[in-house]
Amino acid sequence: MTANEAQAAPPHKETLGFQAEVKQLLKLMIHSLYSHKEIFLRELISNASDACDKLRFESLANPGLLEGQPELGLTLESDEAAGTITLTDNGIGMSRQEAIEHLGTIARSGTAEFLGRMTGDQKKDAQLIGQFGVGFYSSFIVADRVEVFSRRAGLPANEGVRWESRGEGEFVVETVDRPARGTTIVLHLKDAEKDFSSDYRLRSLVRRYSDHIAFPVRMRATAAPDAKEVPGFETVNHAQALWTRPRNDIKDDDYREFYRHITHDFSDPLAWAHNRVEGAKEYTSLLYIPERAPYDLWHRDAARGLKLYVRRVFILDDAEQFLPSYLRFVKGIIDSADLPLNVSREMLQDDEAIESIRGAISRRVLDLLAKLAKDEPEKYAAFWKEFGTVLKEGPVEDATNRERIAKLLRFATTQSADAAGDAQSVGLEDYIARMKSGQEAIYYIIADSPAAARSSPHLEVLKRKGIEVLLLSDRVDEWLMDHFREFEGKKLRNIVRGTLDLSGIQTEEEKQAQKSLAGAHTALTERLQKRLADYVDTVVVTSRLTESPACLVLGEHDIGAQMRRILEAAGQKPPQSKPILEINPEHPLLARIAGLQDGAEFDDLALLVFEQATLADGGHLPDPAAFVQRLNRLLLSLK
Ligand code: ADP
Ligand code: MG
Repeated sequence: MTANEAQAAPPHKETLGFQAEVKQLLKLMIHSLYSHKEIFLRELISNASDACDKLRFESLANPGLLEGQPELGLTLESDEAAGTITLTDNGIGMSRQEAIEHLGTIARSGTAEFLGRMTGDQKKDAQLIGQFGVGFYSSFIVADRVEVFSRRAGLPANEGVRWESRGEGEFVVETVDRPARGTTIVLHLKDAEKDFSSDYRLRSLVRRYSDHIAFPVRMRATAAPDAKEVPGFETVNHAQALWTRPRNDIKDDDYREFYRHITHDFSDPLAWAHNRVEGAKEYTSLLYIPERAPYDLWHRDAARGLKLYVRRVFILDDAEQFLPSYLRFVKGIIDSADLPLNVSREMLQDDEAIESIRGAISRRVLDLLAKLAKDEPEKYAAFWKEFGTVLKEGPVEDATNRERIAKLLRFATTQSADAAGDAQSVGLEDYIARMKSGQEAIYYIIADSPAAARSSPHLEVLKRKGIEVLLLSDRVDEWLMDHFREFEGKKLRNIVRGTLDLSGIQTEEEKQAQKSLAGAHTALTERLQKRLADYVDTVVVTSRLTESPACLVLGEHDIGAQMRRILEAAGQKPPQSKPILEINPEHPLLARIAGLQDGAEFDDLALLVFEQATLADGGHLPDPAAFVQRLNRLLLSLK
């Protein structure tokens, strides 16, 4: 007995229960993924490749871990008679404790929330589960018993672990001898799935799903032995990091599979860009735009960023320093030729070189999106639907690329083509291209919902003139528009603010008519202003309305209703300011008011005009109960 053996824990065998979430996941998975059974192989190969990556990384600081065996790789064997598949890697391996933790629990945060989203609809759930990444547990889709033999690199041979489970709630672990470092997984296939042990089938699955894996996947040789190979074996995949291969050698399907490998996302990416940059800084990037937003896109602590490699050695996951926050939906890798191999997350912070790479990557992504918008508008529409609100953070966060991002924004407008009218489909360039002659600004309105925006009285005069208005109703919109005042030399104008200057598009007669209208009703505006002084700053004759009696207008620098509500919700007191009441004296209601003497009826109607203008903007009444009484008085006075 060596000293090591004497010190090792006794090789006791224990039976442990899976974490509750694992049990739930196992059940859901077997039901949701039966039509994608073959994914188990790519998941296991993906884990084996990660294990090799991790060992290569750890061995940079601790070369002893390689145990004199620096060639990393995978071996895949099967036994058709026994119905087993065996996958071995010589990567980092697992200690007994790691096997218990990694194969018995799901470490990712948000697991419970994620599982709560399962609907019972198999198609939807299969997609959700795909996003989450079922990983190792997918073995149980095809196997009724799974054995794992492993030894962590650096541990002695007698500290290997054997893990076994039938995927039914518990697993067994015991300490065993294992001379080879790394992991061997043996799947005992269910009777109905024994076909998977066919050598031919496995080969084609490896080529289809795992060709991009950077380490060799070896299988028993079918042809004459190749001098370079382990005797009796041959490499069945490309065995070269995908991004290091020349672009025209890489098939679209290879790019898609690589995307799945790094994201666990089942769906295809919408677009990707693969670039090598040479010069002062040398790096390769492979960037993907996903098709669907992950369930945790809005979680503050959700993983985001790129996988970082240095000269093909995997260094870290989720290196967020390479992407600005408004591009946090981008997935991919960056492989730097200049960073030191011992680079850490902390070293990436506030580093000028990294910042300039981030700038270049941002531009690449924006170019990729611009290309998608131009060449494949349907895909771009799908992108916008999923990630538009995230991209809207861009003009604020990234001033250098403001114009580039602005071109990518899409809006619902008074002229959007779809029936419901709520789809955000109009770009600012389209808008400018169809501006009316004499129109100088890009007009927009912000409301609580697309419907409220579309039916706002503020739109009346613009509609009559055939002028398009952007209809904004996302939570971020007011904040976005506050930082974003101009596009291609055109001012962006909120039609609810300040005077609506339509001088460029009005005819001389219209201008004259408006002037004389205002002149003719000074008495009315003054009387109203006196009565409504508590609520409004001034009362003026409208430049906006053609049908409604009145509307409220904000001062040029007043805070908008949306921002006001956000501040109030955050417990802050927004600055108080009174709006301007614009009246349409030609409306019968105002004609009637103008004819009334001062007195109770005048007061009721004056207040009602103000109150309905407030309601039409989705605002809150200062005294709702008084409003109801007023309204009832009027209703009862109807003959
Ligand atoms: P993920 O790969 O997303 O982390 P998996 O369910 O595929 O999730 O794997 C769970 C964990 O089990 C891995 O993170 C890893 O720690 C461990 N693991 C799985 N396969 C291996 C392997 N071949 N070698 C070493 N560790 C492994
Ligand atoms: Mg995995």
